Amino acid sequence: VPRRRWILTGQLGPAFDDGGPILLIESKSTFTKRPMHRAKAHLFLSAIRHRAAELGDRAEFHQVDRYEEVVEVGADLEVIDPPSWTARRFVRERGLRVLPSRGFVTSEPDFAAWASTRDGKRLLLEDFYRTVRERTGILMRGDQPEGGRWNYDHDNRNPPPKGAARLGLPEPLWPEEDDIDAEVREDLDRWQRDGLVQLVGDDGPRRFAATAAEAEAALADFIETRLGDFGPFEDAMLGGDWTMAHSLLSAPLNLGLLDPRDAVETVVAEHHAGRAPLSSVEGFTRQIIGWRDYVWHLYWHLGEPYRTSHNALAAHEPLPRQFRELDAAAIQSNCLRETIDGMRRHGWAHHIQRLMVLGNWALQHGYDPVALNDWFIDMFVDGTPWVMPANVIGMSQHADGGIVATKPYASGGAYIDKMSDYCGGCVFNPRVRLGEDACPFTAGYWAFLDRVEPRIRHNTRMAQPLAGMRRLSDLGAVIDQERTREQW
Ligand code: FAD
Ligand code: SF4
Repeated sequence: VPRRRWILTGQLGPAFDDGGPILLIESKSTFTKRPMHRAKAHLFLSAIRHRAAELGDRAEFHQVDRYEEVVEVGADLEVIDPPSWTARRFVRERGLRVLPSRGFVTSEPDFAAWASTRDGKRLLLEDFYRTVRERTGILMRGDQPEGGRWNYDHDNRNPPPKGAARLGLPEPLWPEEDDIDAEVREDLDRWQRDGLVQLVGDDGPRRFAATAAEAEAALADFIETRLGDFGPFEDAMLGGDWTMAHSLLSAPLNLGLLDPRDAVETVVAEHHAGRAPLSSVEGFTRQIIGWRDYVWHLYWHLGEPYRTSHNALAAHEPLPRQFRELDAAAIQSNCLRETIDGMRRHGWAHHIQRLMVLGNWALQHGYDPVALNDWFIDMFVDGTPWVMPANVIGMSQHADGGIVATKPYASGGAYIDKMSDYCGGCVFNPRVRLGEDACPFTAGYWAFLDRVEPRIRHNTRMAQPLAGMRRLSDLGAVIDQERTREQW
C-alpha cells in the first residue's frame, strides 16, 4: 500500500502528486499568528479547498486549528521536502519520510554542486543563470545563447510611453469565483468577527489562480496579451495601470500550481514560433530560471539565521501604521500612495514598486529589516518565507552588508520620475531637495547616505554617490528637514 502523502501549501499542483493517497490539512494557525492580507488568506484557503475538491476520494481533508492535531510523531506519512525552515523542522521532528523538494527548475543538490565550484567567490545571479541555461539547454543554440547574448536588459527597462495613462493592453483574464470562494469569504468574515484573525486590505474579487487549470489559463493569457510588452516595460510604472505587462504568475508558481519549467518552455516556444520577441522571452526566462530559483536556493544556502542575524545599516525603526494597515489615505507622495493603495486592493505590486518604491522608502527610513521581511510575507499574495530573505534582507535593504547585492538599492525621485508617471501628479517635485515641495525620496536619499555613510564608506560602488553628497552645500538643512518631516 503506498504511503499517504501530506501535501502542503506550496505543493498544490499536479507536479507534487504521484497518484497515491493524499492528506491535505487546512490549519487556522496559518492565519492567526500575525496580521495577513485578506486577499492572501482567501487565496490560500481557496487553493487548498479547490485541491481537496479536485482530488475527491483520493484525499483526506482536515480543517483544524493546528497541524499537530492530525500529524502525530511517528505518523506513517511521506512529504515532499517543504518550502520553509519551520515546516522542514516540523516534518523531521515527527519522523515523516521526506522526499526531495520540487517546484523549481534546478534541484538543491544542483545548486550545492554549483556553489561548491565558486571557491568562495560571490554567488552571482548572472553566473548561476548562465549555468542553468547551459545545463537545461533553455534558449541555447549549442553552447551559445540564443541570439548571441545572454542578457537583453539593454533592450528592456524602457520608461513608460510618454503621455500614456495605461500601456493599453487588454484587461488580464481574471479567474471566475465559485461556491468555494463564497464559502471562504464567509469563513473569513466569521473568523474576523470572532477575533481569531487580523486581516488587512480588501478581499476580492479573487485575482490570482487557485487551481492548476486557472494557472494554465493565466499563463496562456499572459502569452497572448502581455508577453510582447513584458521585456520593454518590465521596470516601468504607471499610476493608472496596476498590472502593466507583468505575468501575475508568482502566486500560482509559489502555490505549486504552475510548474516553472513548463511555464518557461511554453514562453520560449512562442519565440521559436515567431510570435514573441527574444528580449521579452529572455527577460521572463531570467526571472524564473534565474531569479526565482536563485532566491530559493539562497534561502537554504544562507541558513535559517540569515533572516534575523544581519542589520548592517543599523535600521531599527518600526513599520509605520500606513504600512501595517495598508492605509494610504493620508500619504501625499504619489508613488508611495498609489503603491500602498494598490497593495490594499490586490495584495500585490509589481517588481519595481516593491524594490524602488516600498523597499527604497523602507531603506531610506531605516525600517527594521526583519519586520519588513515579515510584512512582505504577510501582505503579498505571493509572499513566502523562502522568497523574502534574499529579496528583502539582501537585495532591497542591504542588511546583510553585501552578501546578496553589492550596494544598497537606494535612489532619489529622479529614478521614479524617469520610470513612471507618478511625479506629474504629485505635490512634491523630484528635482527639489529642500523646501515645501522637496520630494521625500530625493531629500530622503541624501539624508540616508549621510546616516549610513560610516557603514558604507568602504564600498567602492558607493564612492560616487558619497562624493556627490559631500558636495551638497545644503546637506545640513536637507537632513534637518527630513528629520522633522511630517508630510510624506
Ligand atoms: P513578473 O514580473 O511577470 O516575473 C515573472 C516571474 O519571475 C515572477 O512570477 C516570479 O516568479 C519570478 N521572479 C522575478 N523576480 C523574482 C525575484 N526577485 N525573486 C523571486 N522570483 C522572482 N516574488 C515572489 O514570488 N513573492 C514575493 O513575496 C516577492 N516579494 C518581493 C519583495 C521585494 C522587496 C522584491 C524586490 C521582490 C519580490 N519578489 C517576490 C520578486 C518579484 O517582485 C515578484 O516575483 C513579481 O513582482 C511578481 O509578479 P509577476 O508574477 O507578475 O512577475
Ligand atoms: Fe514620488 Fe517624489 Fe515623484 Fe512625488 S515627486 S511621485 S514623492 S518620486
